[in-house]
Parts: sequence; C-alpha cells; structure tokens
Amino acid sequence: MNKILEELKGAKTIGISGHIRPDGDCVGSCMGLYLFLKKALPEAEVKVYLERPADIYDCIKGVEHIAEAGSEPEILDVFIALDAGKERLGEAEKYFDAAKKTINIDHHISNKGTGDINYIVPDASSTSELVFDVIDEEMLDADIAQALYMGIVHDTGVFQYSNTKPKTLKTAAKLIEYDFDFSRLIDTTFYEKTYIQNQILGRALLESILFLDGKCIVSVVDRKTMDFYGARPSDLDGIVSQLRSTKGVECAVFMYETGLQEYKVSMRSCGGVDVASIASYFGGGGHVRAAGCTMKGTFHDVINNLSLHIEKQLKEEKPE
Ligand code: 5GP
Ligand code: MN
Repeated sequence: MNKILEELKGAKTIGISGHIRPDGDCVGSCMGLYLFLKKALPEAEVKVYLERPADIYDCIKGVEHIAEAGSEPEILDVFIALDAGKERLGEAEKYFDAAKKTINIDHHISNKGTGDINYIVPDASSTSELVFDVIDEEMLDADIAQALYMGIVHDTGVFQYSNTKPKTLKTAAKLIEYDFDFSRLIDTTFYEKTYIQNQILGRALLESILFLDGKCIVSVVDRKTMDFYGARPSDLDGIVSQLRSTKGVECAVFMYETGLQEYKVSMRSCGGVDVASIASYFGGGGHVRAAGCTMKGTFHDVINNLSLHIEKQLKEEKPE
C-alpha cells in the first residue's frame, strides 16, 4: 500500500484499533501509529479504541488516552484495524463497519484482508514492522520508535523466532537510533514477571502432561486457580512458550477456562506442525508457529479434538 498519509488525505476523524486481549505487538503498533498520526495530522481527531492493555504497557506514551468504544458508533472518516481482521476488534468492530473508509494492516496468515485497503504481509515479523513501512521515517521520534520496537521485540521473542528477517533487524536498527532505553523496555515488558505470574507458571509446568510420544505437551489453568491467584488472562502470557521449549516437544498447547466448558487455547510449534491451520479449523487463527482459538467442551474434549489434528500433521511430516 501507499504511505498511510496518502490514504488519509482529507480525513478529519480517524480511529485505530487492534485485537481483543491486546499483546505487545498490538499495543506497540496501535500506539506507534497513533503517535505518528497525532504528530503528522495535528488538525485531525485521532483516537485508539482498545481493550485496556496490561499495566506493563504503561511505559508506552499515549496508552492513557486509549478510548472505550461506545455502543453507538461514531461514523469516522477512516478506521484502521491493526494486528487483526475486523472480526477480532471486539467492541470496536462497529466503528470499523460504520467508517467511510477502512484500512487493515496485519501479519496474520489467517487474515485475508478485511479493509477497503489492505496491507497484509504474513511473513512480516509483526504489525509494528508493517506500521514502520507505512509511516514517514523523517517524522519518527523516541516515543514512536519505542512503541514500534516493543511490538517487534514481543512478536519475535526478542529477535529469536524464525519470523525475524534481515528487514526486521534493519528496522530495529533504525528504531534504536532514537533515545529510549530499549534494554529496560525489553526487561519490563517482556521478561519481568510478577510473583503471581511466576507461581501460576510454576503450577502450569508442574501439572503439564506429555502426549503423542513426548512430541506434544499440554497444560491447563482452570477458573478456580485463576480466582485463587487473582490472575487476569494476561498473567498467563508466556506459559505456552515455556512449555514449547521442553526438549523433544514439537507442539505445545496451553489453555485456560473462560467460562462453563469453554477454553481459550494457545498453541506453539517448532515449525513441523502448522498450528495456524488447526486454530483456523476451530474458528481461531494466528501464525504457523503461534496460534490460538476458543473451544467448547471439557478439558479432555478439547485436547482430544486438538490432538487428532496434531497427530495427523506429525504423521504427514514423516511418512513411514
Ligand atoms: P496467543 O496464543 O499468544 O494468544 O496467540 C498466538 C497468535 O495467534 C497471535 O498472533 C494471536 O493474534 C493469534 N490468535 C490467538 N487467538 C486467536 C483467535 O481466537 N483468533 C484468531 N484469529 N487469532 C488468534
Ligand atoms: Mn502481531
């Protein structure tokens, strides 16, 4: 797509949103674009409509201005969906539907493009990297750079995952030319865990189960445990990655109870299993190595359903 300012010519009201349960890339891309547009288009009214991000993101400028989507959507000139298709915007989807023009920027393979204008690049590391592509570099500053850098760091697991491309590192190199404390940013938003988060992580590891000959691992956190620790869903971030790094494991599944016989499922793979296709089959989506969905049934129903798909892929991978 063109530079985003080309697409926003004449727009007086602009909305930005990302997916429900916003993660680092979602917050980073939304806030990076927001800060850029506030600066580049001082006459326009720019707002971010997003579920309240976890407290760790308070260090990103502008999060205090995030708005809640009202029940009667305003008709905005342009609405931009980031890091998700319109169906994952939650309350903000109404604003997207009502807007005069819509733009969708995302790197999820499961997103076929839900805007009038789409910039969907499945091999991009992150939506934050894509936002960098569409903004004008000469208008960058430390606050915008910090937001986008955080998004890239989170979605690449600090430049470790295979989605880290030369272009990703070149983008990151340009961003750290600005004056922000990237080392501290990575520590406080990515690695640091609260005592409670570590306790639940410990419990999830302790109760994890290997299956499919040790090639898969699963763990579950039920409502009772979440209530006992006073944990929010964002307190469970990172558990599935820790499960995945178990030696010999090709695919990790983590789930937590969201309601009566309902689980939010997160999956991670080492590349041999395409978890995006499995998540999509069950109504979710994501990337080949990291995906999620919501599933109904008991814990055993959910894991049985998933394991059929995982096993099939593991068998296809290595034909006898
Ligand atoms: P996580 O397991 O960290 O929640 O998500 C892993 C990846 O899958 C992220 O890129 C996330 O956006 C995507 N994802 C997780 N849950 C869903 C879902 O229910 N629907 C879709 N479309 N994508 C999901
Ligand atoms: Mn992302």
